[in-house]
Amino acid sequence: MLIVQKYGGTSVGTLERIEAVAERVIKTKNEGHDLVVVVSAMSGVTNRLVEYGEYFTKDLNTREMDMMLSAGERVTSALLALALNAKGYPAVAFSGRQAGIVTDTMHTKARIIFIDPTNMNKAIKEGKIVVVAGFQGITEEGDITTLGRGGSDLSAVAIAGAINADTCEIYTDVDGVYTTDPRIEPKAKKLDKISYEEMLELASMGAKVLQNRSVELAKKLKVNLVTRSSFNNNQGTLITGEENMEDAVISGIALDRNQARITIRGVDDRPGVAAEIFSSLAQKEINVDMIVQNIGIDGATNLGFTIPQNEMEPALEIMRSVISNPKCVIESDNEVVKVSIVGVGMKSHSGIASLAFRTLAAEGINIQMISTSEIKISMIVAEKYGELAVRALHKAYNLDK
Ligand code: ASP
Ligand code: MG
Repeated sequence: MLIVQKYGGTSVGTLERIEAVAERVIKTKNEGHDLVVVVSAMSGVTNRLVEYGEYFTKDLNTREMDMMLSAGERVTSALLALALNAKGYPAVAFSGRQAGIVTDTMHTKARIIFIDPTNMNKAIKEGKIVVVAGFQGITEEGDITTLGRGGSDLSAVAIAGAINADTCEIYTDVDGVYTTDPRIEPKAKKLDKISYEEMLELASMGAKVLQNRSVELAKKLKVNLVTRSSFNNNQGTLITGEENMEDAVISGIALDRNQARITIRGVDDRPGVAAEIFSSLAQKEINVDMIVQNIGIDGATNLGFTIPQNEMEPALEIMRSVISNPKCVIESDNEVVKVSIVGVGMKSHSGIASLAFRTLAAEGINIQMISTSEIKISMIVAEKYGELAVRALHKAYNLDK
């Protein structure tokens, strides 16, 4: 098999940890597989480099920042190759450029345009272990770029797609994806399998196992992802296409604490009002999440939406400026959270939503807003009930079994 393994910052956080990674790579090689290993910077390094830049400037999305940031991953890739070579396993370290990763010119958040895998394929053919510095590429003009925070995941998935790897293993310090955050519900279970779509919905769960863009890319390129721990030999979680899923109805419960709610009462019920409100928010790049509006009565209606907590003040300011009708009341609440039930099985089962509502009712938790998609039911509740809601729903859908 051809395997891509990616090791995150904590997995390569010390020289001893890099040595342990080398042993794991060697074990895979000895099982008869070919390998490309993608590494992050040692933990804390990227943050430190960002701070160095901040000492001199606020303008951090530049060519020179990328020149510096890319160094973190280059150090780790060289160290891992040194370790492998010293143990008698021929390895070659590549920068993003040497791995053939070509991006656009958006410094510090570049997108990969294509990968020319010639160098990687040649080294693999020669029997070498290829170690690639994650998080970086090069523009067509030859400038170094980085792919945004957490971007080594993206490097690994894109490389797996480009060299047609059989699987892409992402090593972190957690065992995989859980039915919910184990810090909230100790009975949370590790999932053996989950679909790309569910993974994207559960990303807000707190356990930031994978960068979202990398899951989207894996879905697009049909790369089988496995997330597992580099600190033990547990099996991990396979993230794959829906066609490979058994009929698990609900996969997990997510809690998103970064929510604030704004409600406008008595807003004019006529064409163009929502367009005006949400265009003005979009113009200021405020990300609206849930939106709820009802049928109007007597020419007026209520409109509610949620946004990230730190966007509340700017959003309120925008509302005060666009809403001219003096009868409108603008209300806001920062102390809300979003609890979501996620599962592809919802598509083919009924009664899923009503069980959620009954469960919260039995706990005396009021639901302020509801939104649904094919595979998700989200509810806004008061912050103080968030964890209780998660535990109650986790039990109601038998996720602890
Ligand atoms: N070192 C980079 C970061 O911390 C990329 C990564 O680790 O994936 O964001
Ligand atoms: Mg990372």
